Amino acid sequence: MTTPTIELKPSAHPLADAEREAILANPGFGRHFTDNMVTIRWTEGRGWHDAQLVPYAPLSIDPANMTLHYAQTIFEGLKAYRRPDGSVATFRPEANAERFQTSSRRLAMPELPVETFVAACDALVKQDKAWVPPHGEASLYLRPFMFAAEVGLGVRPANEYLFMVIASPAGPYFERGVQPVSVWLSENYVRAVKGGTGAAKTGGNYAASLLAQKEAQDEGCDQVVWLDAVEHRWVEEMGGMNLYFVYGDRIVTPALTGSLLPGITRDSLLTIARDLGYTAEEGRISTEDWRRDTANGTLTEVFACGTAAVITPVGTVKSEAGEWTQGDGQTGEATARLRKALLDLQTGAAPDPYGWMHELG
Ligand SMILES: *Cc1c(COP(=O)(O)O)cnc(C)c1O
Repeated sequence: MTTPTIELKPSAHPLADAEREAILANPGFGRHFTDNMVTIRWTEGRGWHDAQLVPYAPLSIDPANMTLHYAQTIFEGLKAYRRPDGSVATFRPEANAERFQTSSRRLAMPELPVETFVAACDALVKQDKAWVPPHGEASLYLRPFMFAAEVGLGVRPANEYLFMVIASPAGPYFERGVQPVSVWLSENYVRAVKGGTGAAKTGGNYAASLLAQKEAQDEGCDQVVWLDAVEHRWVEEMGGMNLYFVYGDRIVTPALTGSLLPGITRDSLLTIARDLGYTAEEGRISTEDWRRDTANGTLTEVFACGTAAVITPVGTVKSEAGEWTQGDGQTGEATARLRKALLDLQTGAAPDPYGWMHELG
């Protein structure tokens, strides 16, 4: 399959500097979008073609577009950070490209070559570089995605797809900043089952999660924690983030059973933690382990991790069976240390010994 080159046809009317800077001063998350976007088409028999960078604009969608009915759609999320010298770099874009291919296979969609995925992200970041916030925790969040573009109500893989990348400046993900979150252990709903789509980054998983997230909020909690679908006992994830359990200098994250989303932040932390002297493992944690080990003091901290919010401590845990506080309910030492190590690497405040940063000048 050939890799199309991206034709650059950027907006002739980018947002005025003053307006853009006002947005960058308080971007929120996913509320504002940059001047341009990338689109690449795939059609049966022709493969990938018509790769373009064009002005950000609404799409016109036929009411019988297959995605609207059968949800054949996948996405990614990665960030571009401003480095101290003013240059810009993205974090592990090849890992996102590879996961995008894995998601494509599960949703019976065509695979975009890794180099095309990375080139599309690079083109947009370079064109809209002024939208990358100043050096610090703020970033430009990139949202590559793909959906069925065929029109028709027959149920089968589409014969036409649209791949796109859009970008949105991002401040801290959680409105209250690095404050511990409260979580609700969901025993009524499940996110994913073995053989299902839990390991794919697809919209349907999120659609299925919204009611449980609402239940968590009705219980006074910020986020839902997913348990395994069979025993409702083994901890899997928190909302759209992976989880880590800190036992002193040993940290454990739930193993990838096929129903968890293999987070790139999760994967990166296994390496960073080991280099900081922790023992970092994949394992199995039940809700009973969580509760008992918190009570006996061996489980000292719990945190969630993902691209959007980086690392977020868990402060309180609530379930049908009761409620408990994690440690002293504040950000723990290991959580803070890992968060700083990862963010320093991503923002260029510290060197990158792993070759994870993809520099864009
Ligand atoms: C995207 C996502 C994550 C985190 O993955 P990162 O690559 O670290 O951003 C975790 N869980 C779910 C369900 C996700 O969709």
